[in-house]
Amino acid sequence: MLIDTHNHLDFPSFDDDREALLQHCQSLGVQRQVLIGVEESLWSRLWSTALAHEPLYAALALHPCYLDVHREDDIEKLRAWLDQWAGHPKLCALGEFGLDYYIDQPDKPRQQALFESHLELAIEYELPSLLHVRKAHADVIATLKRYKPPKGGIVHAFAGSYEEAREYLKLGFKLGLGGAPTWPQANRLRKVVPRLPLDGIVLETDAPDIAPAMYPGIRNSPVHLPDICAALAELLNITSQELAQASTANACDLFGWDIQAL
Ligand SMILES: [Zn+2]
Repeated sequence: MLIDTHNHLDFPSFDDDREALLQHCQSLGVQRQVLIGVEESLWSRLWSTALAHEPLYAALALHPCYLDVHREDDIEKLRAWLDQWAGHPKLCALGEFGLDYYIDQPDKPRQQALFESHLELAIEYELPSLLHVRKAHADVIATLKRYKPPKGGIVHAFAGSYEEAREYLKLGFKLGLGGAPTWPQANRLRKVVPRLPLDGIVLETDAPDIAPAMYPGIRNSPVHLPDICAALAELLNITSQELAQASTANACDLFGWDIQAL
């Protein structure tokens, strides 16, 4: 039994085979998937996709890489969505938001302001925070220490150091692992992953992005999650079953899901 804590199955690139993929996922034991919000214009489509399919859940937010697309009042629109839907079982988190200093000429002050607005909403509406963080761990950790969001969250596609991982874990965050550490050239990350505590790990595909080494150069998909789990379990020197069990329990814990109901 597996949970894909981060993907974009609502994107048009899955329109032709979403139903088939979901059936395939079911047969592989990929029981639940969280669709991740990136911009306001895509929220209603994401939400209706989650409502239409039992295994799919929704997170909404404004991605830090798309500041040019976001409008001034989008954060107020997010608040309106939360006013309407917070407490609905399908709305399981706020995400993805955070800081990305890897992109060309990041507007750090604007990213920071948007990041903090989301954290305020996560606290007010009592939702976990699903974070996108690239080359910005120090600022994200410092900000989380100020806000201490009680529901914690996930640092998606975690690729930081062991020390950074420890800081996130202390703040009640889990580390989202997917295709990136399956690549042999991801040396640094492949040294960090085996040191992570099993109760701090959740799994994700980030489909259609971050293809794992086993399926290079094609659209990534949640049906790859069992193979990602197997590759990461090997790196952690445990069995796939152990990693599946622990990561599923961790995700259920974070989202407040009853593991027996899966
Ligand atoms: Zn993503």
